[in-house]
Amino acid sequence: MWAHTKETQDKITPQQALEFLKEGNVRFLKNLKVNRNLLMQVNQTSEGQFPFATILSCIDSRTSAELIFDQGLGDIFSIRIAGNVLNDDILGSMEYACGVANSKIIVVLGHTRCGAVISACDQVKLGHITGLLQKIKPAIESETTMSSERNGQNLTFVNRVSEINVQLTINQIRQQSPILSDLEKDGKIIIVGGIYDVETGIVSFF
Ligand SMILES: [Zn+2]
Repeated sequence: MWAHTKETQDKITPQQALEFLKEGNVRFLKNLKVNRNLLMQVNQTSEGQFPFATILSCIDSRTSAELIFDQGLGDIFSIRIAGNVLNDDILGSMEYACGVANSKIIVVLGHTRCGAVISACDQVKLGHITGLLQKIKPAIESETTMSSERNGQNLTFVNRVSEINVQLTINQIRQQSPILSDLEKDGKIIIVGGIYDVETGIVSFF
């Protein structure tokens, strides 16, 4: 498996980029990893990188984008932060990844049993974690289907908040970045959300 080049990256449509990720997750689930020589890919990418996807995911040790989508060096711009929340620097990273380096898709990837979401649901306050968890609060407030046990012990509630958090993050990307929303309107990129299930390894795209 070769690393992407300018030529191969140029030919990929946003929809194909999504298919590459879906196919990669299926390979991961079947334990059929593509045969990659990572050292060779170091060589192939030494003078430039042409990643087709940009993925915002949680710092959770179980949610490495390259692993769960079976991708190699030079395939993915990987942005990671607890709770896959957004800030201006992350938006800048996405604008670079798509607007300058031509990646074709932005995936906001939440996951089940997310510690950041659980902590936000339990209103944890500790150091800089407090401010970070504030960014998940709108998702908790937007969850209106459950009237009781709205806490971190209720995993149905927690996972529902994670899904809403992904959707709200996507809305924020579109609202706060004219560069990215224009790229999306022009059909140059797509912005999609998904949830990774830490019990099965399955990524479900919305
Ligand atoms: Zn998490």
